[in-house]
Amino acid sequence: MPFKRKSRGRAKGSKGKEPTVQCDNCGAYVPRSKIQRVTRRVSLVSGDLARELREKGAYLAENVVVKNFCISCAIHYGILKVRARDERKPQQFM
Ligand SMILES: [Zn+2]
Repeated sequence: MPFKRKSRGRAKGSKGKEPTVQCDNCGAYVPRSKIQRVTRRVSLVSGDLARELREKGAYLAENVVVKNFCISCAIHYGILKVRARDERKPQQFM
């Protein structure tokens, strides 16, 4: 069967099965190596108030939020971009 990408979009290799992870946006179950994991630091205090507090020497704690996205949600939010056809797969596999 012809395929678009060398690894079929995954990093599984010859491993066989692997666990599925749920997408945090749409809820789809996706193989773990195919998921797009994004780590963001989220401040509980926002904008001008945070700057004012920091100037006065206050320590502002930040939460780290880890999100798992499926490929279509990652493209929708601009985390990934659609690559050109010849960038998807090395030339020797065409
Ligand atoms: Zn999704």
